[in-house]
Amino acid sequence: MDFLFLGTSAGVPTKSRNVTALALQEDQGKAWYLIDCGEATQHQLLHTKLSLHELQAIFITHVHGDHCYGLPGLLASAGMNQRKQPLVVVAPQGIEAWFKSTLENTQLYIPFDIQFIQAENLQNYSLRNFSISSTKLAHRTPSYAYRFQEREVESRLDTEKLKNAGIPSGPHWGELARGEDIEYNGIKLVAANYLLSENAPRKWVIGGDNETPALLAEACADCDVLVHEATCTKDVAEKKGSEFSHSAAASVAEFAERVGLRNLVLTHFSSRYHGTHNKRGSLEDIRKEAAAYYSGNLYLADDFARFRLSTKGEFTRVDKSE
Ligand SMILES: [Zn+2]
Repeated sequence: MDFLFLGTSAGVPTKSRNVTALALQEDQGKAWYLIDCGEATQHQLLHTKLSLHELQAIFITHVHGDHCYGLPGLLASAGMNQRKQPLVVVAPQGIEAWFKSTLENTQLYIPFDIQFIQAENLQNYSLRNFSISSTKLAHRTPSYAYRFQEREVESRLDTEKLKNAGIPSGPHWGELARGEDIEYNGIKLVAANYLLSENAPRKWVIGGDNETPALLAEACADCDVLVHEATCTKDVAEKKGSEFSHSAAASVAEFAERVGLRNLVLTHFSSRYHGTHNKRGSLEDIRKEAAAYYSGNLYLADDFARFRLSTKGEFTRVDKSE
């Protein structure tokens, strides 16, 4: 699974960072998913090989514009590009009504079905090879994290075990290999008992805006990766006061350390960190602050940064070194 960041800026875009969007790409084939769709996400896509025809679903974390204002434009373009297959949009309350009002008031025609699914209480929703659940976060408006877990991992038939059990090869071996339970000589054979898989199912969490990372403790248990906002450093967050509703690098890092997370990707950085020589601070401040609390693999996302979570569960940045 590849994680391709399309926007990593909080609130407003900068010259080098667009507002939030993240593409998840399957290992094989062209299927992909979009998490959040800030304004101009479709422009970012033009710099990638991703096709709107292969987009399987969009997940919106919350209704703030820097996470969803790109939605009508992106869907309108998909329609103009002759997309016909239905699309799933998982989103919190407000998005469907807003989108439908845009359709109506701007005379937008979308030539494919859009199935809206409520983000609230999403539990083990099956989509292709994933089971997806949401977790409610703490923000000024209802905001959600999405946890993805692989449903099936590649496996092979335990032929030794079958032979030892006196089950000779034949078409029923193929059925078991495909995961089908069968009956052989009057005995029920459960496929799972004869399949060997070397890899554990991969699991990851993509957070929306959130001031309380600890809300993700359960979702992150045994997870390979967490992608979470770190809008600014602790001192800046403290100056903003209780209305700020975002996480500082320190609080995310502290949480990640506490739950033993192996890989942490920080994103959604305040525009105050724009540029390298900036009196208001730099992303190095975010990195240093997080690194002081977290001993796992720490990454700061950039626009077009690509990370890969391999079938073996190894997570690495693959576009370039940071
Ligand atoms: Zn935001």
